Amino acid sequence: MKYALVTGGSRGIGKAICLKIAAELKYNILLNYNSNTEAAEETQVEIETFGVKCDLLKFNVADADAVQNSLENWKAENTEAKIEILVNNAGITKDGLFIFTNKESWNSVINTSLNGFYNVTQAVLKDMLRSRYGRVINIVSLSGLKGNPGQVNYSAAKGAVISATKALAQEIGKRKVTVNAVAPGFIQSDMTKDFDEEEFKKHIPLNRFGEAEEVAELVSFLASDRSSYITGEVININGGLYS
Ligand code: NDP
Repeated sequence: MKYALVTGGSRGIGKAICLKIAAELKYNILLNYNSNTEAAEETQVEIETFGVKCDLLKFNVADADAVQNSLENWKAENTEAKIEILVNNAGITKDGLFIFTNKESWNSVINTSLNGFYNVTQAVLKDMLRSRYGRVINIVSLSGLKGNPGQVNYSAAKGAVISATKALAQEIGKRKVTVNAVAPGFIQSDMTKDFDEEEFKKHIPLNRFGEAEEVAELVSFLASDRSSYITGEVININGGLYS
């Protein structure tokens, strides 16, 4: 049974990615979330309307032991299952000027995006290499490319994942496992719900925030066989804000 593991899949962009991969690619979904079980269960029901299975896995991507144990237990109970697609989507922001950024804000953002990438990818990559097929897609950010004032922690975390994407793609290309990053600009979700879209959109050529579904379209393409000759890329999806 083929599975796509999506971290932070219960809400926002991650949820849209789960729905798109289920609907378009017909993969079963292994949906990771951190705390909101109600949201995860609602998303699970929506995903299963596409005739695929959706298993929920609650763990904090920043907690290496929790990631390892949850995935090992799940694999032991699902010996026929094969994770062919990994979308490292879980991420948080703790914005503020660098001078006022305390260690907790720094560490939690780095631990979720960067160490989360390490923890989850480590746990599934060996199986992909062994079966000589896999798609790893990292959701990064415009901030990780251009740097964003007030987001030094987040820019650092996402920038590091961009570099890791490029390096890992070169290490494992021979095994037919591709690694790419998707860098969204401003996308409507809980993460951006307090942003003043009217003000921000003045700087966006397409004159609006993006939809989670628009990001999911791109991720689904990268997760499919149709992207077979693309690896080590960072693809922008930002309404023309930055290239
Ligand atoms: P949301 O805040 O809407 O959703 C976050 C999701 O991640 C939830 O499912 C949440 O689960 C989960 N999550 C958060 N922390 C952890 C953790 N430590 N371990 C496991 N799961 C976790 O975020 P978005 O959908 O907006 O963002 C998704 C990704 O896209 C992030 O990486 C973000 O940095 C990136 N991005 C977003 C942009 C935007 O404009 N929205 C722009 C650029 C990049 P739970 O509810 O259980 O906590």
